[in-house]
Amino acid sequence: MDLRSDTVTKPTTEMLEAMMQAAVGDDVLEEDPTVRLLEEKVAALFGKDAGIFCPSGTMTNQIAIRINTNPQDQVICDKRSHVYLYEGGGMASNCLVSVKLLDGDRGRITAADVLQSINPVDIHCPITRLVVLENTVNMGGGSCYALSEVKKIRQVTAAHQLKLHLDGARFFNALAVTKENPVQWGQQFDTISLCLSKGLGAPVGSVLVSDQQSILKAKRVRKVFGGGMRQAGYLAAAGLYALENHIDKLAEDNRRASELGEILNDRPFVKLVHPVDTNIILFELQDHIDPEEFIEKLESYGIKALSLGGRQIRMVTHLEITDNMVDQFSQVIKKFG
Ligand SMILES: *Cc1c(COP(=O)(O)O)cnc(C)c1O
Repeated sequence: MDLRSDTVTKPTTEMLEAMMQAAVGDDVLEEDPTVRLLEEKVAALFGKDAGIFCPSGTMTNQIAIRINTNPQDQVICDKRSHVYLYEGGGMASNCLVSVKLLDGDRGRITAADVLQSINPVDIHCPITRLVVLENTVNMGGGSCYALSEVKKIRQVTAAHQLKLHLDGARFFNALAVTKENPVQWGQQFDTISLCLSKGLGAPVGSVLVSDQQSILKAKRVRKVFGGGMRQAGYLAAAGLYALENHIDKLAEDNRRASELGEILNDRPFVKLVHPVDTNIILFELQDHIDPEEFIEKLESYGIKALSLGGRQIRMVTHLEITDNMVDQFSQVIKKFG
């Protein structure tokens, strides 16, 4: 029972079959029909002109930051952002930009926060150029933005000629909760990055969607990042299969996460379970319990969880976590006291 991340899933037999049967070509020469189909499909889903298939969500985020900024600009994002914490400092090295970090509510920043963080026109200050939102917020425990707040943020960015990027690594988990039309979300952002290898269960891949001109720029950046792939249709086929067959399963992942959260909340040795909005459970143990020892003890029962440092532990549900496993978790955790 591997609850460390939703990236641990392996392709199902059906997904592997879809991959084996993919029509492929050289995608650097734009001759791979399956990659093209995936890019068109994801773009259309969000009402965007075009998409670009990349090996990872880090690459789609970094490309988005690169094409939405110029060197010396500044990016506004929450302090828990993946683009800031977990992309190896790529904003500095790939994009030559600085960051203004905000402290949102479980990673969710507001239009008022953004407005206050825009630098004045003054040669001492970097030019504020881009706002990055994450939805769901990984380090916020899978928290979701309200579309109404995002619309307000869009008004601020539009009024100040700022670009707006969505790191939507787990955006489909958020849509499974709100049931909103993705096109409404597409309208708010200049660029959106979507991961196929998280809850959707594909082995590899992310797609960045935007307008035609931005995607053309993105193709040049992907090339210099070393992300141009040849017969990538085999991988894109997994993504297409996931879009068609796995989006509907995300609501169940979210439900199971909520059940796991309740099970933990009932235990006296758990100090705090953050609200479980989607498929991520973020919790803290009582002070007298060592998190590393707790994780080792879980592992001795065949259950894997992730220590986030400090006292926080993360668990994530995904395609391979079943109702039976949730029951099993409940039995095991009761033995802990
Ligand atoms: C996983 C993730 C990404 C992309 O990560 P890769 O491992 O590079 O695909 C981006 N943003 C968030 C919030 C993520 O959780």
